[in-house]
Amino acid sequence: MLRTVAAFDRIGEENAFAVLARANALAAQGKDIISLGIGQPDFRTPDHIVEASIKALRDGHHGYTAANGILQLREAVAADLHKRFKVGVSPDEVMIEPGGKVTMFMAIMMFGEPGADILYPDPGFPIYRSMIEFTGARPIPVPMREENSFAFSAEETLSLITPQTRLLILNSPANPTGGVTPKSEVDKLVKGLEKFPDVCILSDEIYDQMVYDGEQHVCLLSYPEIRDRLILLNGWSKTYAMTGWRLGYAVWPGKLYDYARKLAVNSYSCVNASAQFGALAALTGPQDEAHKMIAEFDRRRKVVVDGLNKLPGVSCTTPKGAFYAFPNVKNTGWKAKPLANAILDEAGVAVIGGPDFGILGEGYIRLSYANSTENILKALERMGDFLSKRKAA
Ligand code: PLP
Repeated sequence: MLRTVAAFDRIGEENAFAVLARANALAAQGKDIISLGIGQPDFRTPDHIVEASIKALRDGHHGYTAANGILQLREAVAADLHKRFKVGVSPDEVMIEPGGKVTMFMAIMMFGEPGADILYPDPGFPIYRSMIEFTGARPIPVPMREENSFAFSAEETLSLITPQTRLLILNSPANPTGGVTPKSEVDKLVKGLEKFPDVCILSDEIYDQMVYDGEQHVCLLSYPEIRDRLILLNGWSKTYAMTGWRLGYAVWPGKLYDYARKLAVNSYSCVNASAQFGALAALTGPQDEAHKMIAEFDRRRKVVVDGLNKLPGVSCTTPKGAFYAFPNVKNTGWKAKPLANAILDEAGVAVIGGPDFGILGEGYIRLSYANSTENILKALERMGDFLSKRKAA
């Protein structure tokens, strides 16, 4: 009998990948499936990025790089953060990692252990809770409420901090809700955090360029008072349609940088060298394709929200960011997960049940509008037919 450690009985995963596998299996049987499940842009990586990466391979960049990434790329990240948010970041604080997810993995490993509390958004990205439980720390959900447009409430977040709290995870724009926390609320939160100088903050800003309706993204690096305990998570996956490249970056404060570098050396050594040159082209090259993609998401967002609000029993708050809609389905009479399953099996539309994002996700489903407007309209029509004919199971 193999004697593995108990933590592996507690680790979770992302159900979006399971739904994707089921949708693909149904499609392989010849069913016509529209995928609004997985959270990845339906666009190709812009050509100049692909070309830069191919050139790097042709130029002989075949070996390991430094564990923290190539200097040019770390400089480009620092320059990009300065250009967009007017924040001063040293390339020595930037670490290149194989995906944004790796930053949350490392950060939660650094702060989670039995006896520690970690605060995370609920509904939220499922890996936060999974990793917190893996470490043996206590997961403390911070409710993201529909009546608050799924933004963080500074007051409620601060009220959940205890002497055991080691890490607070923030995410805006948010997955799965599309919620964006306004600057006034972030200001209040940062002010309140002054009273808790031992709490580290992990700010997941992977959707930072996807904000709509004139909202401005608030980068937590712009608050000097928390810079010495702020971890920034960001990357290329969403903005440049590069989910499969596995590229992300973090800004780590103080000694955490060296801890992260050592975790890299102990596991993946460094990020794929040619991918790093692609990432460099993404930051230093033309931004118009990324901007076009985001403008297209904005157009689809309106189509999705309009359509959802016309479905029987469904109401949808307008998401201000990312590429997700998180409609309330409580008045359909269905529980969210059976509804998501039935919509896939009977209407051929892949969506994710809200409970896959946390306890407070019951009563909601998530649709990713990273699909063509034509498919989105077809999916809405199918969901409408389904809901008007089919009573709750
Ligand atoms: N953070 C959030 C909120 C996400 O939704 C995702 C991906 O879905 C990630 C991080 C991870 O991004 P990456 O693919 O770069 O690891």
